[in-house]
Amino acid sequence: MDYPKTRKEAKELGATHYYTGEPCIRGHIALRKTKGACIECVKEDWVKDNEKRSLKPKSEASKAAGRRYYERNKEVVKARANARSPEERYRHKYAYKIKNPELYKALVSVRRRKHRKATPKWITASQKLAMRELYLQAQNLTKLTGERYVVDHIVPLINEAICGLHVPWNLRVITQEENLNKSNKLLASN
Ligand SMILES: [Zn+2]
Repeated sequence: MDYPKTRKEAKELGATHYYTGEPCIRGHIALRKTKGACIECVKEDWVKDNEKRSLKPKSEASKAAGRRYYERNKEVVKARANARSPEERYRHKYAYKIKNPELYKALVSVRRRKHRKATPKWITASQKLAMRELYLQAQNLTKLTGERYVVDHIVPLINEAICGLHVPWNLRVITQEENLNKSNKLLASN
């Protein structure tokens, strides 16, 4: 498509955009709005603002609106959640964590208590160290590969039928995707 080459020309023609072919102040070679800025700059600012907004804690009114939306559209919301890839799930979980720090602190202490309860009294210092190393290994693999690695309890700690221990030989490092598949299978078999 042919665009006017200057703002002046665009105004005269009543066009909404023009194209100079020159880089903007941020180096984009893109269309510019007759009444505003380069469209790539506008997009960038929009994404940045959106990120900032999504990290801010929500007001009570917007939380209530969210709950009402969920009540009316439960099936759609659940279907959308189920269709997410492991990476998207992780991103959503992370955003949720940032927005609900108190809830997350509580969840972390629940997990700690669960681990403590499942750790036998006779565990040795070197066995504890071995477990610590598995968690570090998972962190390092995540950093190195970009894929998220987690420490899995081979026999789950709390399950209807069996109860595993928090001991080195019940731990293994696997990808979060494998872990999600495992928990889906456990849910399906219950
Ligand atoms: Zn620009």
